[in-house]
Amino acid sequence: MAVPTLTAILKRILKQPTAPFHEYHVRREIEALLADCPNVKLKHDAFGNLLATYKFGKRKSLPTWVLAAHMDHPAFVPNTEAKGKDDAWEFLGGVPVGPVQDGIRRGLRKPVKGGQFASWNFPVTIKEGRVEAPACDDLIGCALIISTFWELARLNLETTVHAAFTRAEEVGWLGAWHLGNHWPFSEGSVFLSVETSRPVNGAEIGDGPIVRVGDRLSVFDSEAVSVLMRTASEQGIRVQRCLLDAGACESTALQALGHRSAGISVPLGNYHNINDTKSELAPEYVMLDDVKTTLRLLTALVATKHDGIGERSIRDRVALRLKQYQPHLAAGNQHFT
Ligand SMILES: [Zn+2]
Repeated sequence: MAVPTLTAILKRILKQPTAPFHEYHVRREIEALLADCPNVKLKHDAFGNLLATYKFGKRKSLPTWVLAAHMDHPAFVPNTEAKGKDDAWEFLGGVPVGPVQDGIRRGLRKPVKGGQFASWNFPVTIKEGRVEAPACDDLIGCALIISTFWELARLNLETTVHAAFTRAEEVGWLGAWHLGNHWPFSEGSVFLSVETSRPVNGAEIGDGPIVRVGDRLSVFDSEAVSVLMRTASEQGIRVQRCLLDAGACESTALQALGHRSAGISVPLGNYHNINDTKSELAPEYVMLDDVKTTLRLLTALVATKHDGIGERSIRDRVALRLKQYQPHLAAGNQHFT
């Protein structure tokens, strides 16, 4: 079994051009990378999302996780209402008009071979611990899930875990919405968005993965967040626990459809290709150490069994306290006359 390295997987995925609705290059590369991965089965759903399951032995993690990443990134697609050459392209995704126009003026718009869409022309580089690419969001998430599956196979771990590589997230989670409405996994499986996000509210680039307690639109499943935190502490993995409310992720969509959801994010620089200090076009970047740490956390998460939250459930904790403080309660109660 020739296990691809994390760096090799990153390079192969990050080199794929992508755009909302035009995720076929990424999907093909993920399929190629997982084709030989032991214990992994692939399929597509009717929307074109790629679904993968790693299943080996009877052991399951509790809960069963669905690791999810989207395959698109803001980019130019053919304008379906074009009248002439000047409006041949339409930009899809959350980027202000100013920097987009500036990028076009700087000649950064590059049509892909065959001309189905165009994306920003930046190189993919991995050096001095920093990963730069035209689209880290969310190809880093895709690469991380692929690496997690290979890591499970390499260690021959007995577990079951699912993955969903979704389409058209940048225009309002369309692929995720389909997934939630046609849930192909067992009831009670927990959706875990594996994203890259702008660090806010105290989170920092280089300080490890962010366990996301929520996003701009909703807060996530309390128990799932606790399981993530507990796994990190058991494994001695440094994580940042934060509300990342600079954007909204697919977990909000899945949760709105009644699926338990949580999120984990690799801190991202130059979010949506806007330079963090000057607002001009630039490659996105993440720190390689943050990616490696996220891989360790995901592997541990899907390989271990966790019954509920922490060592004790909230219910057990309070019951214990009530017993412990019973004499004080009785003493105080005498004065409530
Ligand atoms: Zn994203």
